[in-house]
Amino acid sequence: MREPVLKVEHLKKYYPIRKGAFSREKAVVRACDDVSFELYAGETLGIVGESGCGKTTTIQSVIRLIEPTDGRIWLNGQDFRTMKGEELKRARQKLKLIFQDPYSSLNPRMTVKEIVSEPLEIAGACKDKAERDRRVLETMEQVGLDPSYQDRYPHEFSGGQRQRIGIARAIVLRPDVVICDEPVSALDVSIQAKIINLLRRFQRERELAYIFISHDLGVVRHIAHRVLVMYLGCVVEEGESRELFAHPLHPYTRALLDSVPRMDSDGRPAAALQGDVPSPADPPSGCLFHTRCPYAREVCAKQAPELRELKSGHKCACHFPGAHEKEEEQP
Ligand code: SF4
Repeated sequence: MREPVLKVEHLKKYYPIRKGAFSREKAVVRACDDVSFELYAGETLGIVGESGCGKTTTIQSVIRLIEPTDGRIWLNGQDFRTMKGEELKRARQKLKLIFQDPYSSLNPRMTVKEIVSEPLEIAGACKDKAERDRRVLETMEQVGLDPSYQDRYPHEFSGGQRQRIGIARAIVLRPDVVICDEPVSALDVSIQAKIINLLRRFQRERELAYIFISHDLGVVRHIAHRVLVMYLGCVVEEGESRELFAHPLHPYTRALLDSVPRMDSDGRPAAALQGDVPSPADPPSGCLFHTRCPYAREVCAKQAPELRELKSGHKCACHFPGAHEKEEEQP
């Protein structure tokens, strides 16, 4: 049986806060609440949701940029959460990050060569400088950067080229998992496609596993094999990408899909998601989505729905899954 390269079980990240400036009463913000998933070699898991839904906190907790409050993380079968020192440093070489903003994520005082070779140096991955230089130039070529630009600085490159530098830095150590945090959202649409194609090529060639975080469902649909939909720190739907996009069960997923910019057949822009995301410091009772859900009934405000498997591999946390589909079927 195939083992997941990354397995996350019941991950939680809670932040204690004061309820008001003068209040002694404490509350917690559940920025990531009971998130579980598995990721296999050669697979892309998309994580979607509006800003503030907990995508970034989840990922930062997975890679332990912030320490989770609770939960287990298994990297290549090893308990990643309990690792320390050298063991943690070695494991982190297998888990890399590509950032959203290619403008601010690269050190402006370092040349491309220094930026790409830094992870090799930190990991002590090469026997000498000659080998390190060779790996840097090889990686630059692989991501479509002219190796003769190795001594240039980030500001001398376009946005797309800078993101290629970020990718080179992430893959130079040959990781198993790359976490892509909105990697194309700061780029022009024409450049986005090139970067996505580059990521897909590396996945094919190296069996890389990606976690792809995005608020852009169009991009996620294109790249992800499976998708997690998050709302206020919780997973509300999970499934194979094709199935989830064709038959979303959760009203929130349906609303997100309807919010993707497109024109309806009569030329009007499609309906957008109504209302604002409630404050995570004061979340609604029962189903967290009930304040915005057009299908909410009395029970929804009282009882939180569990994430249940309703079709093979397709899970949903809703008391009335697919309510929108039933409505669409009405004559
Ligand atoms: Fe809407 Fe109720 Fe389902 Fe929540 S549980 S998404 S409020 S129908």
